[in-house]
Amino acid sequence: QAAVAVQDVRKTYQVGEPVHALDGVSLKLKRGSYTAVMGPSGSGKSTLMNLIGCLDTPTEGRVIVNGKDVTQLSSRERTRLRGSEIGFVFQTFNLMPRLTAQENIVQPMVAQKVSRSERNERAKQLLERVGLGDRAGHRPNELSGGQRQRVSIARALANDPALILTDEPTGNLDSKTGANIMELFSELHEGGNTILMVTHDRDIAEHADKIIHLLDGVIEREETVDSPVRPT
Ligand code: ADP
Ligand code: ADP
Repeated sequence: QAAVAVQDVRKTYQVGEPVHALDGVSLKLKRGSYTAVMGPSGSGKSTLMNLIGCLDTPTEGRVIVNGKDVTQLSSRERTRLRGSEIGFVFQTFNLMPRLTAQENIVQPMVAQKVSRSERNERAKQLLERVGLGDRAGHRPNELSGGQRQRVSIARALANDPALILTDEPTGNLDSKTGANIMELFSELHEGGNTILMVTHDRDIAEHADKIIHLLDGVIEREETVDSPVRPT
């Protein structure tokens, strides 16, 4: 069973003239695969991520995440699926500014009703895992960009999701810091997570095993990366 299956999906936005953001897209992500999505602005990358991330539903077609047909779920069930099975990492980190690193990581576990002691224990372990064991009490504005992105990766992992979705994870980072963050994603890949990453940066995309090129709402081509970048 695939981690994600997108079947002949169309997404039409109706604001005056209809816009076909996705116009017949089908793809499968195998369990444990690492895939990049590239394409010019407006090609449908964010729309595709939002559908796979259960943030939105298609106009036509089906989106199946971990065997569940997202189009058949109520919005409450979608929220639940999103919280337990998908981790999001954004370009802008999206951390809560008033909360410490530890508190930010704990948040998704509150929604899943994990006990307080287990939440705190797990947040501590996750901070260690991303190399921030000594920053638990720091707020986002007391952390560097790279450290903020590490916190947001730890938060994405809070409920141990099989699927990680990330949109330009290194977009706000210098290249050296970005390379460190990409190493973390490679570690997640080696640990068995399925990763889908949107990027317009070819060097970043080449960390994945496969690149899907979107153009005007359709898959223009799929490319296998010959020798994906891996940590040394
Ligand atoms: P990308 O992420 O590749 O830049 P998007 O998926 O954001 O592309 O957008 C694809 C197309 O859908 C664009 O033409 C965009 O203007 C349109 N679009 C995206 N989101 C909305 C929305 N919420 N309402 C109306 N049109 C939208
Ligand atoms: P990284 O390579 O992870 O982005 P930097 O080299 O940017 O880290 O940061 C080095 C150190 O400076 C870090 O230990 C971080 O705690 C500290 N630092 C960076 N930015 C800030 C800030 N805005 N406020 C307080 N400390 C900061």
